[in-house]
Parts: sequence; C-alpha cells; structure tokens
Amino acid sequence: MLRTHTCGELNINHVNQHVTLSGWVQKSRDLGGMTFIDLRDFYGITQLAFNMETNDQLCEKARTLGREYVIQISGKVIERENKNPNIPTGEIEILVEELTILNTSKTPPFTIEDETDGGEELRMKYRYLDLRRNPLKKNLRLRHQVSHAVRSYLDELGFTEVETPYLIKSTPEGARDFVVPSRMHPGEFYALPQSPQTFKQLLMVAGYDRYYQIVKCFRDEDLRADRQPEFTQIDCEMSFITQEDILDVFGGMVKHLFKTVKGIELDEIPLLPYSEAMRLYGSDKPDTRFDMTFVELNDVAQGKGFKVFDSVELIVGINAKGCANYSRKQLDALTDFVKRPQVGANGLVYVKYNEDGTFKSSVDKFFTQEDLQQWADKMQAQPGDLLLVLAGEKDKTRKQLNELRLEMGTRLGLRNPNEYKVLWVTDFPLLEWDEDTNRWYAMHHPFTAPKPEDIEKLNTHKGEVRANAYDLVINGVEIGGGSIRIHDRTLQEKMFEVLGFSKEEAEKQFGFLMGAFEYGAPPHGGIAFGFDRLCAVLAGSDSIRDFIAFPKNNAGRDMMIDAPDTISQEQLDELGLMLKK
Ligand code: ASP
Repeated sequence: MLRTHTCGELNINHVNQHVTLSGWVQKSRDLGGMTFIDLRDFYGITQLAFNMETNDQLCEKARTLGREYVIQISGKVIERENKNPNIPTGEIEILVEELTILNTSKTPPFTIEDETDGGEELRMKYRYLDLRRNPLKKNLRLRHQVSHAVRSYLDELGFTEVETPYLIKSTPEGARDFVVPSRMHPGEFYALPQSPQTFKQLLMVAGYDRYYQIVKCFRDEDLRADRQPEFTQIDCEMSFITQEDILDVFGGMVKHLFKTVKGIELDEIPLLPYSEAMRLYGSDKPDTRFDMTFVELNDVAQGKGFKVFDSVELIVGINAKGCANYSRKQLDALTDFVKRPQVGANGLVYVKYNEDGTFKSSVDKFFTQEDLQQWADKMQAQPGDLLLVLAGEKDKTRKQLNELRLEMGTRLGLRNPNEYKVLWVTDFPLLEWDEDTNRWYAMHHPFTAPKPEDIEKLNTHKGEVRANAYDLVINGVEIGGGSIRIHDRTLQEKMFEVLGFSKEEAEKQFGFLMGAFEYGAPPHGGIAFGFDRLCAVLAGSDSIRDFIAFPKNNAGRDMMIDAPDTISQEQLDELGLMLKK
C-alpha cells in the first residue's frame, strides 16, 4: 500500500510514530522557515510540516506543489503547536522526511472545500472534483448506510433481492418511456423500465413471496426542478398479505432507517385517509410538522350578501396564529402569492382578530363583527390571529390553500428540517378523470386493486371507487407509494376496459401478466420508495441531486460526459433509424 494510515485517523496517540500517507494537496502555506500543507484523502485532512532549516531541499520541493497534486509522504507524527480543535487530526502534524509526487494537477476550476466558489453547472461538469468535497462525501456515505440498513432489515425478514431486466417493453400507461432501438429486430424497440412493477408481480406468481430490489428506474418526463430521468427505487412486493401487513413491514423499515441512520426513534406512523388529507390540508402529501388545518366556512360565510362567496362550492380558511399584526404590505404580498399563476387564486380574504377583540377584514362591507366572530369561533381563533380565506371550486381552492398553508408554514419557521413527521396516506381513489384526454386514468397504476366493497361502483360511480393504495409521506414529501394488486384476470380485464383499452390493446400490452394470473396468482401487494429522495429527506435536504454520484442537470443532461449526444450515420443505419430532417 502507498500508505500506512489514512489522512483522517492520526491523533495525539500516534506521536513519534513513523507513517506514510498519500493524498491530495488541499492547500499550502509558506511561513518563511516552515511550509505547511493540508493533505486530504477520503477520510480527512492531516497537516504536513516541512522545515527549511533541517531540510531545505525538501522544503523547496514542497513549495512547488500545486493544489490537488497527488503526493506520498513519510515522516514522524509530532504534536502541533497551534492545535485545531475542529478536526480529529487537529492535535498533530507530520514532520515530513520524504516526499514523492505521484501526479500533478491542473488548478481546479473551483475550490475543493466545504464552501466552494463553483457554480452548479461548473461543479456538474467537473463532478469528480465536486465529489472530493466533504458535503458530497457525507451524502454518498449516508446513501450507502441507508442501502445497507434497508438490505439488512429486509434480509432479516426473509426477503430475497432479485434483479429484473432493464430492456423491456414499452407501455403507454404512466410516464413516457425511454426507448432503445433493437439492431437485431429493425423497427422494434425495447423500453427502459419506469419501475419493475409487472416483473415483481410475476415473481409473486412464481412464488417468491418476499421480493425487494434497489433498482434504477427511468422516466422520460418533462423538466421539473429536482427530477432525474433515472432514479433509484427500493422496490418491494409480498404475497399472502393485507394492506395492514405492508404498512407494518415497511413502516417498520422506515423506523429502522431513522434509528440506524439518524438515531431517531419515530412514533407509531399515523394513517390518514386521502379524503381527510384533502379536506384538512388540500394535499395528498401534507406537511404535518405544523397544524394550520383547513376549516370550511360555507355555513357561516354564505347568504350574507357577498356575491363572490354566495355562489361558490367551497369557502375555506386557515388560521395563521399570532399574525394579526401583519402590515398592509405583508398582506399584499400574500395576496400576490395566491394570485401567481402557479397558485391561481382570484384573491385572498383576510380577517385580523385584533388583540382588543375587534375584527378588521378585507370584507368588512359585507360581514358584521358578529359574523366574523362566528368565523373565528369555527377556526378556534384567538385575539392576535389572522384568518386567511379562499373561495371557489372545491378541488382547486383546496390546492390553492395548500400552497398558502405551506408558504405560511415557511414564513413562520414551522418547517424545521431537523424535525420529522411521517404518515401514511391511505384509501386513494382508484381512478381520476382527465379533462384534456376525456378519460379515466389509474391514480396509482392499472394493477392496483379497488377496495372489494367498491368494485360494484366501477360500473356506476367510477370516481368514487377507492383503492387499496397508500403513500408514505415525510415532511410533506411523498417518499413511497404502493398498493394491493389485482390478481385475477377478469378484474384486471375490467380495469383495462375502464381505462379505455380495447380487448386487443390490453392483450397486446399486458397479455403476459393476465395470462400469468391464470396460473395460480396469489393475493399480493407492495410498495416502492424513492431512494434518492429518502436519502435527501434523511439528511434534511430537498435536493436529490446532491445524493446521486453522477446526476443529470435540470434539462436532463449529463454535463460531464455531455449526454445525450448524436450518434454516427453508421450506427443509425445499423439500427435502421432515419432522422427527420
Ligand atoms: N411501481 C410503483 C411505482 O413505481 C410502486 C408500487 O406500486 O409498488 O410507483
């Protein structure tokens, strides 16, 4: 080995030992008689000392070293005069006796320190340099720990990790597929899996009743901040289970991860039905670190002559505790916030519950003090509180108020990244109607089972059919989702029919799965967790990119290898592909 120790492990107990270290020159300082170098490797930083008086040649050589040169040194561990209590090796330094330059380096385009001067794009282009920085090392170590903890938890419970293929068949459901042209079958294409969904179900048919896989998935979705075209899932499936069993096993897994990786004991993970999540938070992934739940005001706010309210489906508000002293400017800012196109409200009604017990609102013309007292009572408001109210069509208004609630949570500092609130959202609708394409879509995916008691409604009230589907939400972020599956050919056929597939289309695309159901498919269900996002949440970060060694940018580009890229005419010909001019 080119070293006896790493740069992170030497301390006062090693004084007087002869050691050899290898690493990168982080920084050097010439102080006349002495030269000091910070030598860095994966494990830490050790200070090297070169003495002009005792070894001027070596010292001169040290002065030629540039940042990021790779060197090997041997020398004696000595106690430092100026100790640095901030790093584990801060009490010692190495008095260098031998120095070998293993490789030189160009000056890096940004500083390789915890706080760097490099912009995002530059750091992505030189990702191998960015990865030398501590924050990224920490993130990738965390990622490693999480995957290790997942594997040991599931292994303990008898799960088998099985790999499923990456070259599969394109299906129109879900997001857009990435496709791969086949050279051997001109005009035919593989697709990269959006998830191993059908394969894991086939494994259930095969009798592998506890499956998991930490697996890459691919979705060709439009650009959105913090989406990666390839990402990693912890994908799981079990047979002979109920929804409760799944929530037990995988709630247990999440608790295990928090405990082993963060040292945090989570409480029992609460369940919140989808309909309640929408009613109380206007979101199927509520951030429950703070309350500020919705209160519906139709019964006290309608019929008072305020036209805007009288004709709407829903009037709903939140109580921003202690905000009655908001200035005109602050209230205008909130109004602007809800009117932004991304939120889309027409306006915002506010009611200040003043400390003296009176009310001051934006609708004083229409509502008496007594009326507003009724609102305040409903919203359990106290003097000093500010009520923020939106009105309109039910689903839209709830979504808008959700945005405002989150904004207020942020403004009031109620979304502490070091606090964790985990919950299951359950009983999702099976189907959702899409106005644009005029058809029903599976809210989770077409293999999700309706609740048995709702199956009848598949013919009459499709929108009311609930699914045995569930999401795991942490701090307002969807971390996992899954469902109990259909395991019966007839019901699966029915589902495709509801989704507007002809018999032939369903057969062509999913015949293999429905065929398998005819050979003794057991009842089964599962879940998949977004592994990158889970790591980010565990680190209290909202950027998944920082937890992926080689991520793509927001435009889906790999800036380092410059992909995607064109291919040669020869390759195109071989694949039988012609580019449209
Ligand atoms: N395959 C699903 C997904 O990727 C998860 C599941 O239902 O297990 O969202």
